[in-house]
Amino acid sequence: MPLAKNRAPSTDDRSNRICTMAKLQAIRGMNDILPAQSPTWQYLETCFARVVQSFGYREIRFPILEQTQLFKRSIGEVTDIVEKEMYSFDDRNGDSLTLRPEGTAGCVRAADQHGLLYNQQQRLWYQGPMFRHERPQKGRYRQFHQFGIEAFGMAGPDIDAEIIQLAAILWRELDLTDFVVLEINNIGSAEDRRHYGQALRKFLESKSEQLDDDARKRLVSNPMRVLDSKNPAVQAALSDAPLLADFVSADSQAQVRQLQRLLKAAGISYRENPRLVRGLDYYNNCVFEWTTESLGAQGAVCGGGRYDGLVAQLGGKPTLAAGFAIGVERLVLMLDSLQKVPDSSCQRIDVYVLVVGNNLAGQGLQLSQKIRDYYPQLGVICHCGGGKYNNQLKRAFNSGAGLAVILEREGDAETPLAEVKIRSLDDAGVSTTVAIGDSIEKVGEFLGISAS
Ligand code: AMP
Repeated sequence: MPLAKNRAPSTDDRSNRICTMAKLQAIRGMNDILPAQSPTWQYLETCFARVVQSFGYREIRFPILEQTQLFKRSIGEVTDIVEKEMYSFDDRNGDSLTLRPEGTAGCVRAADQHGLLYNQQQRLWYQGPMFRHERPQKGRYRQFHQFGIEAFGMAGPDIDAEIIQLAAILWRELDLTDFVVLEINNIGSAEDRRHYGQALRKFLESKSEQLDDDARKRLVSNPMRVLDSKNPAVQAALSDAPLLADFVSADSQAQVRQLQRLLKAAGISYRENPRLVRGLDYYNNCVFEWTTESLGAQGAVCGGGRYDGLVAQLGGKPTLAAGFAIGVERLVLMLDSLQKVPDSSCQRIDVYVLVVGNNLAGQGLQLSQKIRDYYPQLGVICHCGGGKYNNQLKRAFNSGAGLAVILEREGDAETPLAEVKIRSLDDAGVSTTVAIGDSIEKVGEFLGISAS
């Protein structure tokens, strides 16, 4: 009901309005990562950063939002991502912008814009959220996260072997080696693929009645992207289509054979998959994917390959390049379901400081900080918000701390406390009262630690 004119809204009006407001929910396919899930994410992020840095890769950060044109020109106008999945909008100036659906295009744009690519070799890594308007399901989201690496200025196949080896080391560090399989393919040069596209178009024109509208459109504009179709009828029509492998030049074949030798020498096993083409247009020669059977339908955990034409396609000088991206959510699902996250990566609280009574807050905060400074390895919570002793003790137990330090006094005195109580938070509840000056040492004694 509208408020009567000239009457200030009463508290009742305001609270009624607040009560009837519906709660807002997150956007479908965009997940909150709650405190209970964070340790897995942090474990993964730490491990990834350690591995890439040990290979000499340096972090690059670039915006989540870029000009729409960047993704159209790199990923390809006629791809699932660009045609169906991008979050694009016009900003207040009327410029078309897009939430990045993947990292390579932005990484190339940033590296080239800042002169990191010309006549140089670069090993770069990034991480962060990506956005695709796909149908959400387990392992497939509309906001998801990727770790990626990109290597510039190296011809391969040694660098191709290096990036695959880097992923293999990551699986080893995460104890996931037994749960992932490497598939590789050779998709040839841009010219090889042009010849293949012509042959595929000719073949599919004879199967026109088995194709859907999408496939018929792509047949004209980008025949190779018909291979990405998820329609079973289209896939059936493709069953005896010409194979890309038959169009790959001898040069490109020799490179990928050399890559295979390097992988064998590094003890990395792989499966050749002639159907692996990746859904983005910028790749050439070697492409690869690491897949798992632990996740059901969404089995790809890492995909990449060479993309020697992309820098020039985006306006830079021709630059050799290769890289991969890993799906973080899928790794999180794997680590959790296989119980591969070490207990030590969970955040711990060791000491809970109770502050019971008036005028003790300042002393509680100070003592808590002294404990943190003296034992940096400890997690210390200082109770805030007042409350009775029993309620505070309950919170101390719930925090998981092993020890309570108790500042307690009745009345309104303002002088600092001279003594505190220290109590183990277990069934025994062993406790002792000590002079405040001795309390720090006593905490260490109770926990069996010394200052680090
Ligand atoms: P792509 O950028 O398509 O090569 O994907 C690289 C990796 O990102 C894939 O292997 C997946 O692990 C992950 N990925 C791609 N799309 C999604 C998505 N919608 N939700 C979650 N992970 C994704």
